[in-house]
Amino acid sequence: MRLSRWTRRLASILMICLGALWPASRATGQFGPTVDEALSPADSARVVAVRAGRLFDGKSDHLLEEQVVLIRGDRIAEVGPPARVSIPAEAEVIDLRRATVLPGLIDAHTHLFLTGEAAGRYDEQLLKESWQYRTVEAVVNARKDLEAGFTAMRDLETEGAMYSDVDVRNAINRGLIPGPRLQVVTRAISTTGGYPLEGYSPEVPVPSGVQIVDSPEEARKAVREQIKYGADLIKIYSTHRFRFTAEGKLVSIPTLTLPETQAIVDEAHREGVKVACHAYGGEGLHNCLQAGVDSIEHGLDLDDAAIQQMVEKGIYFVPTLYAYENEPEEDLRATGGKTSRARIHEVSFRHALARGVKIAFGTDVGPFPHGSQAKEFEYMVRFGMTPLQALRASTSVAPELMSWQDRIGSIEKGKFADLVAVAGDPLTDITELERVKFVMKGGRIIRDDLK
Ligand SMILES: [Zn+2]
Repeated sequence: MRLSRWTRRLASILMICLGALWPASRATGQFGPTVDEALSPADSARVVAVRAGRLFDGKSDHLLEEQVVLIRGDRIAEVGPPARVSIPAEAEVIDLRRATVLPGLIDAHTHLFLTGEAAGRYDEQLLKESWQYRTVEAVVNARKDLEAGFTAMRDLETEGAMYSDVDVRNAINRGLIPGPRLQVVTRAISTTGGYPLEGYSPEVPVPSGVQIVDSPEEARKAVREQIKYGADLIKIYSTHRFRFTAEGKLVSIPTLTLPETQAIVDEAHREGVKVACHAYGGEGLHNCLQAGVDSIEHGLDLDDAAIQQMVEKGIYFVPTLYAYENEPEEDLRATGGKTSRARIHEVSFRHALARGVKIAFGTDVGPFPHGSQAKEFEYMVRFGMTPLQALRASTSVAPELMSWQDRIGSIEKGKFADLVAVAGDPLTDITELERVKFVMKGGRIIRDDLK
């Protein structure tokens, strides 16, 4: 008797617990590449009206004056002048009439799991910090990037922290922690000898910053594994070591063979997943282009044939200029002051821009401090883009590369209410984006220094 009474009581406690859990687990959605945050019923019913003095809507090529952005829940419901968009009585009004409002910024190349590699900390992170500690750092970095105005990012591998980026992405999507909407790569792929850690005795087993493959079969299996454990896209390192010739030419040593690269791209595309290719130039770059990757990351040394193929196949270029501008000294030492990767990169960027390659904003932030990557805009303009082109690289081209152009990158009805504001006019001074004063993600205020 006692037992059955306890069994009944236990069953009813279990029912209560399950009842409490059920709506929450349904509301948070599924694992995987979702950008829908957990919205409580109160949040979904919230009405917010942003009054913008000037508005870059991501569609027009100029700023619109005096606009109202009406937000219901996490989406934009209406945009237009006050005469057309009436503000409901229940709306919370945010007054940005002295500012310029823009779509949330998008960085297509970040490393949440790197913190200060420029200071030589790469090996230390892999050897002395647990994945758990590095995940804590990634959570802090995600917040810094969001507060700087980056409301969506492609995070291009964890550098040895395995699948921890999937957890960071999911925690953000469920509203547990603040951070940008993320697409994540997980481990990335290269070959034996094609990625750090390096320089240790063969007797000492050390971790690798990527998953190593040495045949087309292993390559295909790695793609399947990474997708299985939550990768939104695949990243490959197609060049790794490099040197300069006496004439100051950059020589990039390839990693994966063409059949290995083709196996990766074929498997990823069969599963509806894009491939990002880290390449400087030469054979590794051309293997990627021939295999039909979706983007070239860095692309320091794009020759004419490469640019031609990128135009023909619609392959995106994510240049990450600022990352190379940061550290030219070692290159200048190696070439006797003749050249540096930064100088070679500028030439590639100018050629690609002139020939109409699709250029997406991406920064490689991680080796340099998170939250400081808007500096990239300044370099894009310095190397030939108009401020409007640089802005579009982030708000129009990057979302296309991510296949998220239906949900982010412009201020229009139906899109996520991801907004930033700056005090001045970024179309005349692009460095305004380095001084973001207001950030909203999915209708929630992340930062407001304009109050
Ligand atoms: Zn990178």
